[in-house]
Amino acid sequence: MSLFRTSIIITSLLALSACEVTSNGDDPTVENDPTKDLGILWVKHSAEYRAITTQVYRDATDDLPGFIEDKTWSVLAAHADPSALPPAVILDVDETVVSNVNFQLTFERPFANHKLDTWAANTPALPVAGVKSFVGTARALGATVFFVTNRPCQPKAGTDDPCPQQQTVVDGIHEIGLEVDADHVMLAGEQPGWDREKQSRREFVAQTHRVVMLIGDDFSDFAPCVRDEPHGACTEAATRASRRETLEKYQGLWGNGWYILPNPMHGSWTSVE
Ligand SMILES: [Mg+2]
Repeated sequence: MSLFRTSIIITSLLALSACEVTSNGDDPTVENDPTKDLGILWVKHSAEYRAITTQVYRDATDDLPGFIEDKTWSVLAAHADPSALPPAVILDVDETVVSNVNFQLTFERPFANHKLDTWAANTPALPVAGVKSFVGTARALGATVFFVTNRPCQPKAGTDDPCPQQQTVVDGIHEIGLEVDADHVMLAGEQPGWDREKQSRREFVAQTHRVVMLIGDDFSDFAPCVRDEPHGACTEAATRASRRETLEKYQGLWGNGWYILPNPMHGSWTSVE
């Protein structure tokens, strides 16, 4: 068989295999079918995904004692005098603490926050591998743990609670075996100025704590002004180019105060151009 013909056969086989499992919607017969989304399947089934989250949390755990000991260390520039403040770590929630992969596999498109809230309120939460051990160690070392999520506060039929979604998040964290109260779970819109740009909530924590570590699965869990909708001090929508510049700006913090987990299923990167 000629080399040319062999290469055509290999190319055809690769194309067929891409049709069977794809995440880019190139094949209209599988577009929007979550059961064929390679990213969701990877999170659901692969040992590699669990290995990576375990590795990230282990690295964070190993680094934490040094950051707590060094009273000058902070990952937020807003501190006037961080050395006088008690240490804290900030974690995102979805795909950082609890896994929503089963929601991703089953929810009726398009996404809406109330769908996730309803699903989470009726489905036992699953932990992201490594998080329970990390949070246990952080607390044993004296760090306060805050959970900052972009699940929004929204009115809900049958209750006067302005943020009934907060209890859903608190319950989910309890379900994976971690203690937490509502004061340490901060939702989007819970207080004036707490928009989807998480920087305002990070700075709120930094008023009372020396924030030694951030953990999340989205660029916006770490850096300001990387979303498509500008809020707060951000005056322009982020672009792919501006996000790359921001990536460079904070290069020294990855794996050194900032710890990012993989999420091939969704994220703020999908809506910037
Ligand atoms: Mg997340």
